[in-house]
Amino acid sequence: MNPDLVVVGAGLFGLTVAQQVAERFGRKVLVLDRRRHVGGNAYSEIDPETGIEVHKYGAHLFHTSNERVWDYVNRFTSFTGYQHRVYTSHGGEVYPMPINLGTINQFFRAAYSPDEARALIREQSAELGDKEPENFVEKGVSLIGRPLYEAFIAHYTAKQWQTDPEKLSADIISRLPVRFTYDNRYFNDTYEGLPTRGYTHWLQTMADHPGIEVRLETDFFDESQDLSKGNVVGNVPVVYTGPVDRYFDYQAGRLGWRTIDLEEERLDVGDFQGCPVMNYPDADVPFTRILEFRHFHPERDMAKDKTIIHREYSRFAGDSDEPYYPVNTPEDRQQLLAYRDLGRAEQGVLFGGRLGTYKYFDMHMAIGAALSMVDNKLAPHFERGEALVSGGVDA
Ligand code: FAD
Ligand code: UDP
Repeated sequence: MNPDLVVVGAGLFGLTVAQQVAERFGRKVLVLDRRRHVGGNAYSEIDPETGIEVHKYGAHLFHTSNERVWDYVNRFTSFTGYQHRVYTSHGGEVYPMPINLGTINQFFRAAYSPDEARALIREQSAELGDKEPENFVEKGVSLIGRPLYEAFIAHYTAKQWQTDPEKLSADIISRLPVRFTYDNRYFNDTYEGLPTRGYTHWLQTMADHPGIEVRLETDFFDESQDLSKGNVVGNVPVVYTGPVDRYFDYQAGRLGWRTIDLEEERLDVGDFQGCPVMNYPDADVPFTRILEFRHFHPERDMAKDKTIIHREYSRFAGDSDEPYYPVNTPEDRQQLLAYRDLGRAEQGVLFGGRLGTYKYFDMHMAIGAALSMVDNKLAPHFERGEALVSGGVDA
């Protein structure tokens, strides 16, 4: 294939760009990925022995309020009616998470009304006075007060981020809803569900277009292969969705990434924990949560006497680890400014996706950002022959 566009990374961002460029502009797209499969971190496999779908890079729950994204993804898969609910095991007791009136009343052994609970939390976050919360701790305490923050958030976050929470952005805790009702759904979005035939079926369907060729187990930085950075950049337009610091040989420093070790266990019981996700917010338990995959698809026929779980251990990513979450401390944000400048100067290369922009993207955000990149950067180029203007890594 003589491609019109090379996409580095077959995750949801790269696949959306490839699918749109092939379909809307009738162009040839070559997608490469260093892994042996498409789908990036959303990839899953059906375990042949039990029929249980295992999310290989951590649990992935699809949710969005973006109509365009919802319409788009429904072209490739239907979704089940799954609604995510999480529990958290603290001090030998199980509570609903995210924090809601049920959690509050169980924790304080009370029967507060919504207004009484609000008043209590206001009192318990009074230490902040009128100050606008500026970091993770201040935001957390302002939302739920000190006692609930210490019980459910402080140690969990220490295990998950291993970073002084005063250096973490307030956005991270803002992702979790806090509700003064008994509604314990994890997400607030209009649409939610899991791909009926599994993630891999969905992701492969996106790549299934005569204008798209996928080349796996191919590293963009391996100069011995024909699609390497040295061979491609400057000759063919590129959309790069790998880590931005790696693209520039770490010349502005190493951005902080967090990775997760998943400890898989196959158990001879039909049901291990009774729910898909149990969080462990106490300091004396080394992992952050346990996933039990069978509960994501109660509608499926699976082995009744076996189950598969993952214990998640979080730590800083080293060079050979998968970078999953941007840590995003003030130092990281400073370095990112330098990478944005470098990105803007890199002719013919657009940076996108979670790794390429160093942003916490959920799947729907990655897809939405990819659709915008196609509209704003690739359509003018492929439809009207305009030069490809790099928007830097914040595109
Ligand atoms: P990725 O999926 O990371 O894809 C990037 C691809 O680029 C990878 O396949 C990688 O192999 C490839 N690549 C990198 N470098 C190179 C190179 N040098 N050469 C070739 N290929 C390269 N989102 C939700 O909506 N709901 C969830 O519940 C959810 N849970 C998550 C849980 C975990 C543990 C993680 C890590 C993420 C979760 N997400 C969730 C986020 C979701 O995974 C991302 O939004 C999505 O993967 C972003 O897609 P992407 O294409 O930007 O990146
Ligand atoms: N969090 C926590 N306790 C929990 C769940 C979440 O302290 O039981 C914090 C943690 O810092 C996490 C953040 O809230 O990173 C956002 O939660 P989310 O479920 O979005 O976590 P993710 O795994 O996506 O980081």
